[in-house]
Amino acid sequence: MSAINWGQIKETIKTGVGHSNYSNWFEPINFLSVEDGIARLQVPSKFIGDYVSKNFGDFLLHHLSTQDQNIQRLSFELAASKKTLATPTIKENEPALSQRVSRKTMDGDIPGAPLDPRFTFENFVVGKPNELAYAAAKRVAEAGPVTFNPLFLYGGVGLGKTHLMHSISWELHQNRPELNVIYLSAEQFMYQFVRALREKKMIDFKELFRTVDVLMIDDVQFIAGKESTQEEFFHTFNALVDQNKQIIITADQAPGEIRDLGDRITSRLQSGLVVDLHPTTYELRLGILQKKLDLQRVTYPSLEIDNDVLEFLAARISTNVRVLEGALTRLIAFASLVNRNVTLELAQDCLADTLRNSERRVSVEDIQRKVADHYNIKLSDMIGPKRSRSIARPRQIAMFLSKELTSRSLPEIGKRFGGRDHTTVIHGVKRIEGLKNQDDQIAEDLKILQRSLDA
Ligand code: ADP
Ligand code: MG
Repeated sequence: MSAINWGQIKETIKTGVGHSNYSNWFEPINFLSVEDGIARLQVPSKFIGDYVSKNFGDFLLHHLSTQDQNIQRLSFELAASKKTLATPTIKENEPALSQRVSRKTMDGDIPGAPLDPRFTFENFVVGKPNELAYAAAKRVAEAGPVTFNPLFLYGGVGLGKTHLMHSISWELHQNRPELNVIYLSAEQFMYQFVRALREKKMIDFKELFRTVDVLMIDDVQFIAGKESTQEEFFHTFNALVDQNKQIIITADQAPGEIRDLGDRITSRLQSGLVVDLHPTTYELRLGILQKKLDLQRVTYPSLEIDNDVLEFLAARISTNVRVLEGALTRLIAFASLVNRNVTLELAQDCLADTLRNSERRVSVEDIQRKVADHYNIKLSDMIGPKRSRSIARPRQIAMFLSKELTSRSLPEIGKRFGGRDHTTVIHGVKRIEGLKNQDDQIAEDLKILQRSLDA
């Protein structure tokens, strides 16, 4: 017999995680038993089990083991089926296709790829760069009448495309459990297609993908140039659109920019709503850090991180949210090991490598080259004396981007533009700042240039 006083543990947890977390996630959990060092807990849904295991696993384990030191692991079991849930961090082996076809969403299993329980709308921070994408994702998650098909989300690495897709899936799963929702990366789509070919199960394959209500394919650029996968994707796509089923696609570029995708698919992909996620701003990055910190507080209730540390991270790590998050996680782990509050000095020490690697490596010269290419002018004209509009404007754009994307000072930038004075640079930067808001063409050019320089 185990000496677990579950009621008492729940009380402790309640003070640790706050009322709303407690009533959402812990209130519905029943303690079953301890067997061979495994604490068995009963949860009402797979969603709750996954969520608690992922976000509060360590926390819960810690509290249970204070009462029973033999406890090494947790096991979450569904109330009805007594089925043990796989921890979401461990990927299940891909079940055979025929099993997948018959597998229903009844007990909370979502066919397709595993979903990350942290990737919910609630945990997604909305800011200027992603508000449209967020709104569109929310809309399709309502599963009302299909108004745009497909929804095509694109943007650079780590901007939250996968996070939004998983959020849609979770939301649909909660509100419309009867719907058959499939989320897959384009790579997995190909993998399943190839396996179906090999195992002569194409009928099953077609059946599976043509009976879904909502199909999500992540990173579709992956199938570019893969002729027969593309062909099959095209047919699946058309069949679903014909039945008015919602399709959601992501990619790292706009449909028209993905090479080797074929005109038919490109124009199909453009036929719905195309929304891009812009590179993050400082404010958005700060917001994301605060959110992630709040989520971590659940595991480390007494965690203190000075706000200037977050500001420092948001300013210094600007290329990729994933790297930003990694830095925060590392910092928290470090702080909890040494049992100290996280100060700016500690952060600088602990993250020296990360910070070095995420220094923007783009140089003024890179920018000049890209801009000259884009406007089809000679690189030498960037630094030369010509003042005609067709040369001066691209030069100002390059100055503007140099100020935005490098850490060079204005005089340093001027020097690299043929020894120009820093007031000339200021003038150029101001000019483009103004035009950016008035001239759509310039705004578009800047966007393209910025994206290609970020890569
Ligand atoms: P993508 O698929 O666009 O490459 P992901 O969706 O995998 O990017 O996001 C990378 C990481 O950054 C994830 O951990 C995700 O939660 C986080 N992230 C990105 N944007 C946001 C946001 N707006 N709010 C909260 N987290 C975000
Ligand atoms: Mg992704």
